[in-house]
Amino acid sequence: MKAVVYKGPREIAVEDVEDAQIQNPTDVVVRVTSTAICGSNLHMYEGRTDAEPGITFGHENMGIVEEVGKGVARVKAGDRVVLPFNVACGFCDNCRAGKSAFCLTANEPGTAGGAYGYVGMGPYGGGQAEHLRVPFADYNCVPLPQGDEHEKDFAMLADIFPTGYHATELAGVQPGETVAVYGAGPVGIMAAYSARLKGASRIFVVDHVPSRLDLARDLGAEPINFDDSDPVEQITDALDGYGTDRGVDAVGYQATAANGEEQPATVLNQLVGTVRHTGGIGVVGLYLPSDPGAPDEHSAKGELLVKMGRLFEKGQSIGTGQADAKRYAHRLRDLIIAGRAEPGFVVSQELPLTDAPDAYARFDKREDGYSKVLLRPGM
Ligand code: NAD
Ligand code: ZN
Repeated sequence: MKAVVYKGPREIAVEDVEDAQIQNPTDVVVRVTSTAICGSNLHMYEGRTDAEPGITFGHENMGIVEEVGKGVARVKAGDRVVLPFNVACGFCDNCRAGKSAFCLTANEPGTAGGAYGYVGMGPYGGGQAEHLRVPFADYNCVPLPQGDEHEKDFAMLADIFPTGYHATELAGVQPGETVAVYGAGPVGIMAAYSARLKGASRIFVVDHVPSRLDLARDLGAEPINFDDSDPVEQITDALDGYGTDRGVDAVGYQATAANGEEQPATVLNQLVGTVRHTGGIGVVGLYLPSDPGAPDEHSAKGELLVKMGRLFEKGQSIGTGQADAKRYAHRLRDLIIAGRAEPGFVVSQELPLTDAPDAYARFDKREDGYSKVLLRPGM
């Protein structure tokens, strides 16, 4: 089958690889109809991780079930399904508690959490390919209505819609509250959209890519360009000097400062400044335990300089980690079916698999107009 293969830093190719196959009786094989490129792929693409050449990326997948293992009870050939990015067993302590991003059996003993096509997240192939093996299929497949309606919307259930929603849960967003989201990438846009679904009164979205700030404005948020002036001041000025009730980091350790330099702890400290005393902060932007390419010795070891004294003084709560996408995927799917959510508006390109090398390069540059790319292997 054809698949996107990582060759080395900023180099990928579409090549023939071994077909995805049933390995365990609880597996299914899915024919991939849509598979998205994620900001999380860029950490591997840019060569900042231990990802070995040869790996196939792709943790945001949906498609049609083609082959079904003997031990699968619920999923049938022909079913249309979306696969939340966490590969999880469904029966360990964490899965039973809804913490499927921290599944205790999907990865090596002593670690937690599995994912399709991601370094350090278990032995699972990625879905930027014609076919994908799905382990523990009864748990990992989220069923969708037959047909081809809402393909873009449902594809967002694999990661960024639940991840954005999770960010608002970690921050504790309640109806009527004010929310600041740092990062207007696909994840930040979905966090702002989730805050709107939850009835937030005002939502500020910080970035400096014009088309991304336009998306924020389109969904009813107030865009804040951090190249203009200090975003903390812009937001607190708009609130007569008060902070927002809640804040979200949808940037991660690759934060850029207004002068263009990488400053890994910028956003965390800005959030401590933006959010009011006793407010909540949800951090879904990714921080790595090590980053050989980091700008300084501390961040290379994943140690960031966060203003702990200020955080203590303000009595804020912080939640972080991979999103338990499966925990929210069914409910968010039902909002789409009911016509009450349309997260596919964030998709900027739908392209055949063969366009992946060009699409990666342009998404990596945060090229204006490139927000969320959906690869369509059958196209
Ligand atoms: P992205 O990397 O394109 O989005 C990041 C955005 O932040 C960009 O638009 C960039 O211009 C902006 N930015 C950079 N510096 C900034 C600053 N100082 N202030 C405000 N904005 C700034 O891609 P994405 O797909 O939206 O992913 C965002 C992050 O979320 C990544 O770190 C990704 O790995 C992570 N992620 C986490 C999970 C999870 O489960 N926790 C899931 C998916 C993605
Ligand atoms: Zn993702």
